[in-house]
This record gives sequence, C-alpha cells and structure tokens, in this order.
Amino acid sequence: MLSLQGVRKSYGGREVVAGIDLDLRPGECYGLLGPNGAGKTTTLRLALGLIAPDAGAIHVLGEPVPARAIAARRRLGVVPQADSLDPDFTVAENLLVYGRYFGLRDSAVHARIPGLLAFAGLETRGAARIASLSGGMKRRLSLARALVNDPELLFLDEPTTGLDPQARHLIWDRLKRLVGRGRTILLTTHFMDEAERLCDRLAILDNGRIIAQGTPEQLVAEHIEPHVLELFGEGVGQWLDAHAARLPARFEKVGETTFCYLRDPLPALAELRQAGAMRYLQRPANLEDVFLKLTGHDLRD
Ligand code: ADP
Repeated sequence: MLSLQGVRKSYGGREVVAGIDLDLRPGECYGLLGPNGAGKTTTLRLALGLIAPDAGAIHVLGEPVPARAIAARRRLGVVPQADSLDPDFTVAENLLVYGRYFGLRDSAVHARIPGLLAFAGLETRGAARIASLSGGMKRRLSLARALVNDPELLFLDEPTTGLDPQARHLIWDRLKRLVGRGRTILLTTHFMDEAERLCDRLAILDNGRIIAQGTPEQLVAEHIEPHVLELFGEGVGQWLDAHAARLPARFEKVGETTFCYLRDPLPALAELRQAGAMRYLQRPANLEDVFLKLTGHDLRD
C-alpha cells in the first residue's frame, strides 16, 4: 500500500528524514510516533509527493512517488493537521467542491453525500455553515471529505490534536470503522493512548530515524519492564532515599513524578505501606513508557 526504502531528506544541510524504511500492509492502521521535530510530517509530505526525497524510493499504491504523485493522490485520502474546510460553503458544499478536485461529477458526489454525512454524524448539518460546527464536527467532516473519492489508503496528520476527550473517542470510532471496512491508514500522533488503541503496528521516530517498530504489544514487551509504579506528592525523595537501593527497579524522574519500572511489583508494594504522605499509582507498562525510554522526551509537556 505504501513503501518507503532508504528515504532521506535534508533541509539546510540537516537531515530531517535520515533513511526511513516503511511497508504498510493492506487493511492495517500504521502509526508514526515521535516527539516534535522527529520528521513525521516531512515523511507524510514525502509520501504524498509534495516534496522530493534526496535519496531512496517511495511507492504509493504501486505508483512511484514523486514521479507519479498525481496519479497516486487521486486514490488517496488526506486529513491534514489543520482543518482546511472552506468557510464560504456549507457542510454539503464542502464535500461537493472537494469531489470536483478529483474530477468527480457533481451527481456522483451528490449520491455519496448522505452516506458521508452519516459517517461523520452530521446527517442534520448538511446545510450548516462551517463556522457553526464544533472542533470535533469539523474534524469528522474533514475525515468524511477525505473519503469523497473512496480512497484505499488514508493519511492522517494528528487526527485528534486539539479535540476534547469525547470528540477524540468519536474520531477513533470512525477510524476503526474504516479499518473494519478494509481501508489502510497511516497516521501521525502525539498521543500514546491513541496509538495503542488504533494502530496495528507503529514506528517511533526520533531525529529522522525509526528507532523502534512493531505492534504496540511487541514494543512494550521488548523495551519495558511489565509493571510501573508512579510515585508523586510529598515525600517521594525521602522514600526513594530509604528504599530505592534495595528495590530491583529502574527509576526515571519526569517532572514531579518518579516512575519505577519493575519485573515484580510485590516487594516495592510491600515497602509502600510506609509511603507516608507520598501517593502512588500502580499500572501495567504502556507505549508512553516505551516512548519515554527510547526518546528521552516527555510527552506530557
Ligand atoms: P514532526 O512532524 O515530527 O514534528 P517535521 O517533519 O515537521 O517534524 O519536522 C522535522 C524537522 O524538519 C524540524 O526540525 C523542522 O523544523 C524541519 N523542517 C520541516 N520542514 C522544513 C522546511 N520546509 N524547511 C526547513 N526545515 C524544515
């Protein structure tokens, strides 16, 4: 569906994509994760053929890109980071106008509009102005608009950034439906919970390189101890001074919180009976822990 082999791109002598290999299988949701500046958006722009690589080969749906980028883009759906809906048109008109970019006849798009609006949960909003929509509605409309040409492959750049939790869940539900219908999705995200829920496989990028790749479960199992204790509140320093040396744990301090990574949480939990005012949370390891360990960047910022 999408293949990148040894792809490189420099700006001003700095390599921002430094040799990336990717291979998306039909029907999977693939995530590109990474801290700001890791090269995620540049990788998407290369795959779209909007910029040319300095080295390497890119194929989208079998088409070499950028040589045949226009042909490839006709079969793609793209949801950009910032909504680019036209405020001068209604919801339904936005779909119609977008369809024209693909050379679709108005009658063909008209026939698709009810289904696209239903998919977006905007059945009653066809005649509404864009300004009257909430952020979540706009994002769902952008997603519906990206489906106007019935694409096999969708690129989504941070699909839920800026949305509230409920609106995020509604987008996740739509993306799962699309994968359920056999579509292939490439998405970039900052949100580890999003990647963990949606992505069949993902790559973690840092400094233009893929530093880890696999299913969320594989990445957690490969890189992180299975149990995590998060220590916070008053007295963490004193508690660690008294107990850390005796515990078979790896410690990471991020802001106010100390993370203890453990194979066996029981000894530490026994010691935590003397936690005093300090608070703690026990949980299984997740992708955010992997991210933190591999990139050293805190995503909570
Ligand atoms: P991400 O999407 O992971 O945040 P980007 O791909 O947007 O990262 O950016 C990677 C790096 O490339 C950043 O340091 C950014 O400043 C730089 N960059 C991206 N586009 C350009 C450009 N057109 N000119 C110069 N530098 C760029």
